[in-house]
This record gives sequence, structure tokens and C-alpha cells, in this order.
Amino acid sequence: MQGNMMFQPLLISSLIEHAEQYHGDTEIISKNTDGSMTTTDWKHISRHAKQFAQCLKNLNVEQGQKVATIAWNNHRHLESWYAISGSGLICHTINPRLFPEQLIYIINDAQDQVILFDKTFLPLITGVKEHISCVKHFICLDDYDEAIVEALPEVLFYDDLIHAQTADFVWPQLDEQSASSMCYTSGTTGNPKGVLYSHRSTVLHSYAISLPDSLNLSAQDAVLPVVPMFHVNAWGTPYAAAMVGAKLVLPGPKLDGESLVSLIDEYQVSIALGVPTIWQGLLQAAKQVGSTLSSMNRNVVGGSACPPSMIESFKHDFQCDTIHAWGMTETSPLGTANQLKAKHAQLSQAAQFKLRLSQGRPPFGVQLRLASEENGTETVLNDGCTAGNLQIKGHWIVESYYGQKQNALTEDGWFDTGDIATLNEDGYLTICDRSKDLIKSGGEWISSVELENIAIAHPDIEVAAVIAAQHEKWDERPILIVKPVANSQVTEMDIIEFYSDKIAKWQIPDRVVFVDTMPIGGTGKILKKDLREQFGSVLSNIA
Ligand code: ADP
Repeated sequence: MQGNMMFQPLLISSLIEHAEQYHGDTEIISKNTDGSMTTTDWKHISRHAKQFAQCLKNLNVEQGQKVATIAWNNHRHLESWYAISGSGLICHTINPRLFPEQLIYIINDAQDQVILFDKTFLPLITGVKEHISCVKHFICLDDYDEAIVEALPEVLFYDDLIHAQTADFVWPQLDEQSASSMCYTSGTTGNPKGVLYSHRSTVLHSYAISLPDSLNLSAQDAVLPVVPMFHVNAWGTPYAAAMVGAKLVLPGPKLDGESLVSLIDEYQVSIALGVPTIWQGLLQAAKQVGSTLSSMNRNVVGGSACPPSMIESFKHDFQCDTIHAWGMTETSPLGTANQLKAKHAQLSQAAQFKLRLSQGRPPFGVQLRLASEENGTETVLNDGCTAGNLQIKGHWIVESYYGQKQNALTEDGWFDTGDIATLNEDGYLTICDRSKDLIKSGGEWISSVELENIAIAHPDIEVAAVIAAQHEKWDERPILIVKPVANSQVTEMDIIEFYSDKIAKWQIPDRVVFVDTMPIGGTGKILKKDLREQFGSVLSNIA
């Protein structure tokens, strides 16, 4: 017998309708590409979304087709997201920092019909235009601009388009399983692969990230997604903010520490989200300008392991709790978030801090397990110390990659993440490494993450990465690549010495290489693939 309750499909349009109806006057603050600020609210975001949905309809873009965005986090981008997905089209967010060949590859792979772009990215568009014949319309997310028309005569302007429309568009009732948006994996591990999210997965993910033991989002929050909207949908925050009626502060193109500190202070941001490299810059800038970041009571760190020294600095210097979270493009992205349980209150400060360093535990809706082999089905113990291949399943986890007939799962239906991790009995996850970043020295594994965490705690080191270098005797040995802070006199010996009381001798990196700039990928992560190419053989001739 079925239950007698109403069925309503879980749709992205219902998020923006809710925000308009119940949180219409909640502010959305947006930094524009030219540096000016726009203050709007959920009511106007919703109206513009309907106006733009009508424009897309007039351009004959059909349900199920893709509309790409190459844009910073700002209000027009937000409106267009709701317009695209809400009207049954698929919003394909593109990382503007991709190489032109990668851009061409993913635009053709997705068969994008329309591209929306910030004017900053005009050269990108004109550079690849002749190779992306699937694209029928180019829309600049701005007001009319003669210079843009000169470079791209067929261009349409977002502001012109929406102002010619009324806001009486009615959102279609879609199948909740239909595709709503897509992201390509950032390609740090190979060719980008498309992940196609659904309305259902997106709405359920929004509930999950808003839960108290996840990010604890509410109508009292002012949320600053520093993480770009093209990096796994800004980790879902633009949807969750509409769900809970939170204020959004959209930072535009400038993500340096000083710009972020002034946004946080001026717009009273309560929670901000980003990758560790962002926080490194922010901490330095806040100290330099003497800001206490008083409004910000928590920040979310994910995308790469959060160094312990960073969590410590946020807590001690800024009274800000760091929520360490783990996820990936294939997991929408939230897989785990770190919040303590009631029983942990009895632990010592040191033990609590240790627990907070882990990537946290899964919210309802996802499950984790550790397999003894990659893509295998045999599991290892969740004892907090036995490492295994991390696998995941749940409502917002990928089943197959876009365009691939075969599913991407193990025989018994789990997705293998490519991460090596431990889980304790409460489900707290500790990522040891990515399987391909582990260093295999004489048959023993060394975690690059552990070595990086030690390096980054050294006061003279701004950014650190550990990679495997080939070694005649040991196969691989760890080497450390560092970008020192400005004017530092630190030497290789000083850094090696710094490791001596922190880790077993055989795990200490064999070499320290100093660089002026670290190769950083489009989502703010260090490109270890590039470092391996450049420095992977530095030990070969001295082994
Ligand atoms: P890509 O795999 O191309 O870098 P993603 O952004 O999807 O693109 O990255 C997901 C990966 O990032 C995870 O598999 C994991 O290795 C790493 N990652 C994400 N969050 C964390 C974290 N908190 N700690 C350690 N690694 C993390």
C-alpha cells in the first residue's frame, strides 16, 4: 500500500520560488567584474531568472539542451543558473582557467548551444569560437558594450535581453530526475569527464549541506562562496542559500586576501567557503590590515587537505571554527563535513583538535566504505588506522559519466573515489592521499599530505607540495617543493631539520626545491602532475 501523501518533484525552480516568496527582501551582494558593487535581493534574482528563462525560450533552446556559463560569482550568473535549470535546460559551468584545447574539448563534448560569459572572458571566446560550431548564441553577462560588439558581432547582452521581458514566465513541472546542470572534473587526474547532476540530486544535496552537522546554514547567515560557481557549483551554496533564505555575498573576480577581508568585514559575512590556498592569502591579509574578521564564525575548507596550522590560526587568531569538508565533482560535492558529537565534549582540547583535523563524517544520504583494492568489493576495517580505497554511494553521487554507456561503479554499486583513506567507527574520514600522489619508497607508502602539513606549519613557507621523485634504489622518494614567504632566508637544511622531530627519519623528504611560483590549477589546487613532470627526476642522477 502506498502512503497518502502528496508527491511534488524536487525541482531547482522550487528553490528560487521559495526564496522569492519567503525571503524576498534578503540581500544578495555582488561584486561586478568592473569592481563596482550591486545590492539586490532574492525577489529580484527570482524575477530576473524568469525574464531570462523567457529569453532562452525565445532563442529556441530546447529542454535538455545545454547552456554554458563562463563567469565569476556574481548576481547575473546566479540569475542565469536558476533560469537555465528552472526551465529544463542544463547549466554547464565552465572553468575559465582551462587551456583553450580543453575548453574546445568540453564545449563540443557537451554540445553547448549557448554560452553566457563575463566580459573578462571575451578573448577566451573569440579565441576558440571557430572550433565550437555547436554554439548558436553568445550572451555577455552585462550591459551593452560597443567594444564587445566589435570583437564578437553576433553577441547578445544579458541586460538588454531581460529588460525586454516580463517576469510572468511559469516554471515547467519537470521530472525530478531530469538533468539540471553539469560540471567537468577539473582534470588534475587526466581528461575532464562530465558529471550530470539532476534536480533531485541537487535539492537533496542542498538539504544535506544545510544541516546543523554539515554547514549549519540558515536565514541568519551571510554566505560568501569564494569557491567559484564553476567549481562543483560553488559546492552547492547558491542552491542551499535559496533553500534556507540566507544572504549571499558573491565576490566577483578578485579572490586575493585583501579583497576578501574587506568583503567579509563590510557585508558581515558569517560563513565563507574555499580551498586552502585561498585561506592562506586571507589569513595573511587579515593580520596585515588588522582585521579580526569578527562577523565570520565559521569557514569551510575543502578541495585539498586543510593544514592543521590553518585550523589553529583561524581558531586562535580569529575565533573562527573551521569546518573541514571532503568531496569531489562526482559527489556534488559534499561527502563529509567535520562537526563534533556530544560525546566529544569530554575529550581534552588536544584530542578534540585532532578529531577536527579529519575530513569529518557523512551526512544522511551518503555512505562510505574502504575497499582493500581499487574498484574492489572487499572491505577493510573502520578502525581509524587501516587505510583503504575510499568508496561512496548515495543520492547525489555520480552513477555514470556523461556520454559513457557503462556505469562508473564497482560490481556492487559503489563509486571508487581514487582517494586512500581511513574511517573510524563513527565514520570520521581521514584522507591519507590520492592513490596516485602516494609515494612508494622501498615498498612502504609515504603520505604526501602528511609531509605537506608539516612543511606549511614552518613560518617561512607559504606554499608546499610533496611529490614522488624516481629513485634508483628506493623506486620513489619524497621531495618537497616550496614557495617561501617574501624575503625569507630559509635554507634546505633548515627545512629538513624542521622535520626531524616530527616524523620517522625514512619519511623525511630527500630534497627541498625552492620555486618562485607554484603551478596552481583552475580550482586553486596545486598541479602535482606538472610538478612531477618538472622535478620527478631530480634525484635520478644523484641516487
Ligand atoms: P579533481 O579530481 O580533478 O581535482 P575535484 O575538485 O573533484 O577535481 O577533486 C576531488 C578530490 O580533491 C578528491 O578526490 C580528493 O582527492 C581531493 N579533496 C577534496 N577535498 C579534500 C579534503 N578536504 N582533504 C583532502 N583532499 C581533498
